Amino acid sequence: MSPICEECARLEREKEEARQAGDLSKVTDCAVLLKRHPDHSKRSALSGKGRA
Ligand SMILES: [Zn+2]
Repeated sequence: MSPICEECARLEREKEEARQAGDLSKVTDCAVLLKRHPDHSKRSALSGKGRA
């Protein structure tokens, strides 16, 4: 997968753990947070990926 920011990486982890734990509410929550996460252009390195 493409590299993401630390927060997204953590959310992905949490989402995966929640899914395995059967906590669908948390899975959805993490998914929403990931989607709503602000652009990562500030982090540089990923500039040009997706919408700039
Ligand atoms: Zn992020």
